[in-house]
Order: sequence, then structure tokens, then C-alpha cells
Amino acid sequence: MQHELETLKRYISESNYIVFFGGAGVSTESGIPDFRSVDGLYSQKYKYPPETIVSRTFFMNNTSEYFEFHRARLLHLDAKPNAAHIKLAELEKMGKLKAIITQNIDGLHQAASSENVFELHGSLKHNLCMDCGTDHDVSIIKDSTGIPYCDCGGIIKPDIVLFEEPLNDWVIDESLRHISKADMLIIGGTSLAVYPAAALIHYYSGNKLVLINKSETHVDSRADLLIHGSIGEALNAAI
Ligand code: ZN
Repeated sequence: MQHELETLKRYISESNYIVFFGGAGVSTESGIPDFRSVDGLYSQKYKYPPETIVSRTFFMNNTSEYFEFHRARLLHLDAKPNAAHIKLAELEKMGKLKAIITQNIDGLHQAASSENVFELHGSLKHNLCMDCGTDHDVSIIKDSTGIPYCDCGGIIKPDIVLFEEPLNDWVIDESLRHISKADMLIIGGTSLAVYPAAALIHYYSGNKLVLINKSETHVDSRADLLIHGSIGEALNAAI
């Protein structure tokens, strides 16, 4: 592991256009569990699998039940940035890191003061009225029960990408633009199993592709540097 961390350090020192692509594993180190995790308690409480609840169809047809799940399983407002978020923010301030692309919806990169963050799946911090478009603070979701309503009478919908909903074109375009310009791409905390994560990697043409993940992924063989371990610990040791 020491050898890998030395290489990571060297890659960073040699690079000036680093892009980070992160998945759920970045947030689990802040104590945010994957919402898909189903345990005995879950089964007692919910009649549907999590993937069903977090879908456009379910939101439209079972709105109140959706919000019960949203408050209990998606909102983790006490979570704090961990070493991975903090070190990436430092790397941006140093002028080396140009973009963070994340599949997470918790806003922890911004909480760590990162600025150029592209949230592929949206953000829990933004909640838009479905009628007038007003962006409401997350507290209005947290502090309400049942369906949250805007003053205009519209339903307030969290600005996250539900299953069956398209990703934001601008976010995709910006992500691809940064990845194609990157001289170093660090991918952390994702198994790269789902679209578009697996596709994004093809836009990188450099020779410093770093994969940091606790478990193996199907693209491990493509990595120039592979670190099987904690993303927070690896970045903490190298930056
Ligand atoms: Zn409204």
C-alpha cells in the first residue's frame, strides 16, 4: 500500500488538471448509508423495495409515502465532510483539481468548500416547487410532515434525479468536458456498475487513471493505479 500511495502522490504532483469522480463510498465514510441497504427493520417499515420508492412513478402516485422514506432514509443532515471531501477541497484551492463529479446528493463536497462540483443525481439541498419553481431550503422538507407544499399551493419536489428521470444535460456535458481535458482522473467509492459512471471513463484519454475502492470493480484492469482501500485514508496520505 505504501508504494501505491507514493505513486498517487507523484501523480498529483505531476498533474495540473485533475478530475475526481465519486460514488456512494465517498459518503459512507461520513456515516451516510447506501439508501438501497435493506435490513429487517426496513422490511417491517416499508412495503416496497427502495428502488421502487425512489422512482418518478412512485413519487407521483404515492407522494406522502415517498416523503416518509425521503426523510427517514435519504436526509442525513447531521453528516459532516470526511477526509476525502476535505482533501479534495484543498486540491482545488491549490489549483490542481478542476472538477468534482459526484453521484452523491448530500452536498458534502460543497460543505467542505469545494466549488466546481457537478452533481449527476441532483442535490437534497435544493427543493423545487413543481408549480412556480421556487427553490426551498431543505429545512422545509425536514420540518414538515406528509407532503410539503409551497406558499403557492404547489408540491415541493426534492431536486434529485429519481429512477425514470433523465440526468441534467448541462451537468453531463460539463462532466464530459472536464474528463476529456483531464490529465489525471481519480475515481473513488464507486463500483462503476451503473450508467453513466461506466461510460464517463471512456472520455478520459490520459495515462493517470486512479481507482480507489474498497472492493474490486469490473474496470480494475484499466487503472494505471489501483488502490483497494478507504478513499479518505488514501487522499489523506497523499495530499
Ligand atoms: Zn410554488
